[in-house]
Amino acid sequence: MPDLIHYAIPAFVILVLAEVIVTAVQQKDYYEKRDTFSSLAMGIGNALIGLVGKGLMLWVYDLIYEYRLFTVDPTAWWGWVLLFFADDFSYYWFHRISHGSRYFWASHVVHHSSRKYNLGTALRQTWTGTISGAFLFWAWMPLVGFHPVAVLTMQSISLLYQFWIHTEHIRRFPAFIEAVFNTPSHHRVHHASNLQYLDKNHAGILIIWDRLFGTFQAEEERPEYGLTKNIETYNPVRIAFHEWADLWRDAWKAGSLRNGIMYVFGPPGWSHDGTRKTTRDLREEEKTPIA
Ligand SMILES: [Zn+2]
Ligand SMILES: [Zn+2]
Repeated sequence: MPDLIHYAIPAFVILVLAEVIVTAVQQKDYYEKRDTFSSLAMGIGNALIGLVGKGLMLWVYDLIYEYRLFTVDPTAWWGWVLLFFADDFSYYWFHRISHGSRYFWASHVVHHSSRKYNLGTALRQTWTGTISGAFLFWAWMPLVGFHPVAVLTMQSISLLYQFWIHTEHIRRFPAFIEAVFNTPSHHRVHHASNLQYLDKNHAGILIIWDRLFGTFQAEEERPEYGLTKNIETYNPVRIAFHEWADLWRDAWKAGSLRNGIMYVFGPPGWSHDGTRKTTRDLREEEKTPIA
């Protein structure tokens, strides 16, 4: 089965190079050499792992499809319309929970580990997403009758869409586009560590889900990219696994089953003694400043 992402790699490379050149000509600081090389390394690793990972996903989706409740005709136009919305809805929840639960964050943090925001950052992708079960957020789709190949194809289309929005060069589109679609402006907010921007704009293609489920934030102040605590490494292996290592260390030393479960599945930043901060803690703190 062809993977659209693999075919798109030459275009990714050309567009990143083009943006590097434009950025250099304009003397902007959107790129940093070591940062870009580690983003590319993460992208290459992700694509290689995808060769096996997509097979695993297809196998699981096929298994579920055997027991489907209905059949969505993959050749009908309305089947593709349903597929588009079902995928984008699943992506929203996958992505929102990837920020809300540390188990999924351990994979997704990779994508947020750059302090730069450019087309190269789009390629900074996880190596552990499939193996840790991210694809299960789409598992309901083969169950209700979407063909497994159609599900995988739409996931690839969504990722292709999300490539070009990782840029500082496009400021804002007309309001009717910003109202409906995920855009560079909306996604800059998503990559920023400013308090008002944390855990906002989880959209894939359509921003409507964030507006609907209360996680939308417009771009107002200048975004500061990266994590609330940056990882200070360009080593791809450390970028891929550092949060997993921290997660297991915390769980191991948790002292009780409840604390262990919270360290693994609770929100990033959760700690049993309150020594670390979740997004909610940070917001509470700002609301009630210590005199
Ligand atoms: Zn994210
Ligand atoms: Zn992104």
